[in-house]
Amino acid sequence: MTEPDPVALTQALVRVDTINPPGHEDRCVELLADLLSAAGFACQTHAFAPRRTSLVARIGSRLQAAGGIAPLAFTGHVDVVPLGNTAWQHDPFGAEILDGRLYGRGASDMKSGVAAFTCAAIAQASRLRDSPAGPGLSLIITAGEETGCEGAFAMAVSPQARELLGSAGALVVAEPTSNVPLLGHKGALWLAAEARGITAHGSMPEQGDNAIYKVARAAVALEQFRFETGPHPLMGAPTLNVGTIRGGLNINSVPDAADLGIDIRTVAGQDHAGVLQCLCRMLGPQIQLRSLLDVGSVYTEPGDPWMQRVFALCATRSGQPTPPRTASYFTDAAALRGPLGWPPVVILGPGAPELAHQTDEYCQVQRIQEATALFTDLIADWCGIST
Ligand SMILES: [Zn+2]
Repeated sequence: MTEPDPVALTQALVRVDTINPPGHEDRCVELLADLLSAAGFACQTHAFAPRRTSLVARIGSRLQAAGGIAPLAFTGHVDVVPLGNTAWQHDPFGAEILDGRLYGRGASDMKSGVAAFTCAAIAQASRLRDSPAGPGLSLIITAGEETGCEGAFAMAVSPQARELLGSAGALVVAEPTSNVPLLGHKGALWLAAEARGITAHGSMPEQGDNAIYKVARAAVALEQFRFETGPHPLMGAPTLNVGTIRGGLNINSVPDAADLGIDIRTVAGQDHAGVLQCLCRMLGPQIQLRSLLDVGSVYTEPGDPWMQRVFALCATRSGQPTPPRTASYFTDAAALRGPLGWPPVVILGPGAPELAHQTDEYCQVQRIQEATALFTDLIADWCGIST
């Protein structure tokens, strides 16, 4: 078979509308599963809802269960965010290439990354298939990442899906980094802080119990909240922001319900359950806290031996060493890392992080080709293939 071209594959993926919601990632996943199956990968899918399909494709790791080295895993999501209110100059599903830029929703975040590792893996498939004693490869392609890693978390809690995932010796997350390796990302804990009260006529507030006053006091207290954990050398300090406040039925009633939306970003080594406990203590019994999103931080020490090899391979390709840094966004690695056996994780992909979620999103064609070459290096390094 002819090997797929990563730029053409990015175009094919961008042309499939996977705006989440509703997602409908199944057509993208079918396209990838067809290519990977034809190249000899064992493909299995896991859907967390109708048409919300994730894919695990594996090759060359049959002896891993007998105590060999665990496979190298790549992961990427195929859902994309909505187009926004500003009109696009380029068709968001056209995937047109102009002046070396491939335009479309998901071009950077992150169909180019999925295309690059899929093509790098397929190019090595025959060698991996012929050496079944090698560690092999796993490709984990997810649905529903943009709305809180839904597909990845659904796999993490499903016993059958965990079996599909198996373990991994290292994990590459091909989210947009302009091909610069990143060591991890902060965690996110989103909470609703809710208060109840008793409604009454607005002219007789003494007969009611005002829920807005309770969340207002909570909001003022939260502004002063100090984390017990200090700053991380690369991620900086944990943060807390009150993003929303809601309450009240109309101006002439005492509100009987109100809530705040709180966005907490945690650093490596910080435990979300501990943060939640601290907040509960501080806000007291008038406020009920409810978790809306709980995505842990991900971090691998720059001194990890595999991470050092990744940085060295990237430096060889780019011609310059990159300082250790972390990403500002969270990734599916937060959900997948535990089920995969806590492997080291690098975030590395061809998309430009500053173009993710933007109007007229694009990816440099050259970056897609560079990423495919980098991923080929990583596969060869892990599986002991000479290129
Ligand atoms: Zn993404």
